[in-house]
Amino acid sequence: MKIHEYQAKQLLREHGVPVPRGKPAFSVDEAVAAAQELGGPVWVVKAQIHAGGRGKGGGVKLARSLDEVRQLASQILGMQLVTHQTGPAGQKVRRLLIEDGADIRKEYYVAVLTDRATQKVAVMASSEGGMDIEEVAAKTPEKILKVFVDPLVGLQDAQGLELAAGIGIPLASQAQAVEVFKKLYQCYMDTDASLVEINPLILEGSGQIKALDAKFNIDDNALFRHPEIVALRDLDEEDPAEIEASKFDLAYIQLDGNIGCLVNGAGLAMATMDTIKLFGGSPANFLDVGGGATTEKVTEAFKIMLHNPHVKAILVNIFGGIMRCDTIAEGVIAASRTVGLSVPLVVRMKGTNEEIGRKMLAESGLPIISANTMGEAAQAAVHAAQ
Ligand code: ADP
Ligand code: MG
Repeated sequence: MKIHEYQAKQLLREHGVPVPRGKPAFSVDEAVAAAQELGGPVWVVKAQIHAGGRGKGGGVKLARSLDEVRQLASQILGMQLVTHQTGPAGQKVRRLLIEDGADIRKEYYVAVLTDRATQKVAVMASSEGGMDIEEVAAKTPEKILKVFVDPLVGLQDAQGLELAAGIGIPLASQAQAVEVFKKLYQCYMDTDASLVEINPLILEGSGQIKALDAKFNIDDNALFRHPEIVALRDLDEEDPAEIEASKFDLAYIQLDGNIGCLVNGAGLAMATMDTIKLFGGSPANFLDVGGGATTEKVTEAFKIMLHNPHVKAILVNIFGGIMRCDTIAEGVIAASRTVGLSVPLVVRMKGTNEEIGRKMLAESGLPIISANTMGEAAQAAVHAAQ
């Protein structure tokens, strides 16, 4: 789950990480009132969307008077903000953050994240903050420093210092930077985040270290123990199909191809998408119906897939282990009838009761294309989608 910058900064504040004073605003009047309360003399008006690159897209602007705050707020609120992370359609701005303008001497980058290769938490830092960190990673990877944290002892002073000195933070500010890194690590652990990214982390004219931007990814599987974070969810920022799927406990991710996939098990779902690609097709979604797929769940899954206008064929690939193939066949038949299936449907089922399942599909009178192997199924779906 993602959250907005102003919410992220509140979490940082609660963990003792210095951030600029600021207030969220949902209307132009609220923006002006917030600026008045902060007092100025310089404010920053920041679009709040779940995507980075807002600065370059025109969503972060400096104001030097209340009139200018009003003008910028009315310009940014409601705009369709396009950044390299939103895709060409952009994202509508519905919230703003009005914040104190900072006196920036230097912009750095710091992130805490899960490193899968070492199975540890990594803290990454760079002297090249503010710009595209992906570009730095690709072109000058030596400018990104990394330390790995032992979970039993947490981030150590020596590691923090290695980063602070390594990215060129002046001696006088290094001790504070180490404190900030340690608090960021603690905040990452306490919120069950999978990423906390501060870009830029700044050195102010006064020598203070501050987080000027904040991005959090929270591990969805840990949300059950963070009702306070769930409360920060902004459905306007999420894909409607994915919201609908989460209501029925379906693991669904929308993609940009044209073959809808309904599979049980994440591994089989990944393999199915690979096989479609192998035969020159392109999956429209990842969808894992899980171990306990009921007729109701399968019906909802069909509805969600068919709601996507790009879907030209559907491929059902099921392995019947504990789940029996006849149960799935029943679900597929009922779902096809309920939703009035409008595209070709390819079904491949293997495992417990597969003969019974296949017989049910054949006798249903529905135009279902049956396939035996995964390769056959993928080829049939690719062909049908053309
Ligand atoms: P994004 O990463 O989405 O572009 P940022 O919050 O990083 O958004 O803002 C972009 C740039 O705007 C920053 O790199 C910084 O130079 C400037 N900026 C952001 N917030 C402030 C602030 N409070 N005071 C001064 N400059 C700011
Ligand atoms: Mg940023």
